[in-house]
Amino acid sequence: MKRADAIALDRADPLARLRERFALPEGVLYFDGNSLGPLAVGVADRIRDVITHEWGNDLIHSWNTNNWMASPLRVGDRIARLIGANPGEVIVGDSTSVQLYKLLVAALRLRPDRSVIVTEAGNFPTDSYIVDSVAAQFGATIRRVRAGDLTSSLDEQVAVVCLTHINYRTGAMHDLAAMTAATQACGALMLWDLAHSAGAVPVDLAGEGVDLAVGCGYKFLNGGPGAPAFAFVATRWHAALDQPITGWLGHAAPFAMADGYEPAPGIARLTVGTPSILAVLALEAALEAFDDVALTEVRAKSVALSELMIDQVRGDARLAAFELASPADPERRGSQVCFAHDQAYPISRALSARGVVADYREPRILRFGITPLYMRFVDVFDAVEHLAQVVANDEWTDPTYAERAAVT
Ligand SMILES: *Cc1c(COP(=O)(O)O)cnc(C)c1O
Repeated sequence: MKRADAIALDRADPLARLRERFALPEGVLYFDGNSLGPLAVGVADRIRDVITHEWGNDLIHSWNTNNWMASPLRVGDRIARLIGANPGEVIVGDSTSVQLYKLLVAALRLRPDRSVIVTEAGNFPTDSYIVDSVAAQFGATIRRVRAGDLTSSLDEQVAVVCLTHINYRTGAMHDLAAMTAATQACGALMLWDLAHSAGAVPVDLAGEGVDLAVGCGYKFLNGGPGAPAFAFVATRWHAALDQPITGWLGHAAPFAMADGYEPAPGIARLTVGTPSILAVLALEAALEAFDDVALTEVRAKSVALSELMIDQVRGDARLAAFELASPADPERRGSQVCFAHDQAYPISRALSARGVVADYREPRILRFGITPLYMRFVDVFDAVEHLAQVVANDEWTDPTYAERAAVT
């Protein structure tokens, strides 16, 4: 493809209008929105207002008068629309790790006669570590298997299957409907981590009958660094759900200040302590970028951008050493494109010096997050050209690019 063809695709793009909803810095091609989403227009003003008026002026009254108390559920409902959940099935708060811990323990408590957790080898570290800790706490057995062996590892001993829908390293995407059905057919509960799915690919949690899910607020949802995570619990489990971190704000009547814990009805029982209101309201403002956006359109553009990137890399002789590390089939791939290369780390640094922000993942993966709300076809075209020049000019051999930063 020629650069002019990419520009023509942008002119015809029905989502092109969404780019102005983001405050992107000049001269940066941002392929890391799957790691830290960019700043949405309106967030800074909203937070300034929350700080000066709601906190500065209205002080403690704001819990009632500015509806701070209801905000985790209100923002949860906004996310519910993006993941096919019903109103009242999603709440925001804590980090993904903490939400995962609560729901994994709750799942085991819902299946007291079973003692196996099935999960995938090569899962995101936090998911692996939390599974290990919960298994140790409950004396449960872990079956940590490869993606291809998941269904054959299911039997009537399995309490819960805990999987990440889209693999953080390769972008490989599970068949959410088929895996949920197979899990439930053996009587286990299905717990999905949607960290790389929410806001990127259409997910229909209620339609597929998923039991439990968690996800991340700072990736494709653009909620800001350390944004609150979200948790989903299907309505049918609300009354029985027994989560382990019984903080005072998850109580049915927190201000009764009772000695004993009684969980709040509904999804509110997942609340632990006082929510980080500034962060919840920043996430809420960021989610306005998704107003009137159909995720089917987002997905269609994501596939088109990803295919363009793969075609451009494959068609460029200078990039022959880059192996596609994501599934080639778009149906099996989330919203990212990864290439394996022995020098992926210094190459990612040299790209960054040219204003192309992608990231490096161990062991030798160069990862490009594809974010259709603000990404243009010409950005993909230009990024691949930068990559080719970094390689052709040996720019990555600069010794400073070999030094590892704390965050890669
Ligand atoms: C990013 C990510 C997380 C993030 O966890 P936090 O506790 O919110 O930092 C969790 N799981 C997966 C699969 C992720 O990709």
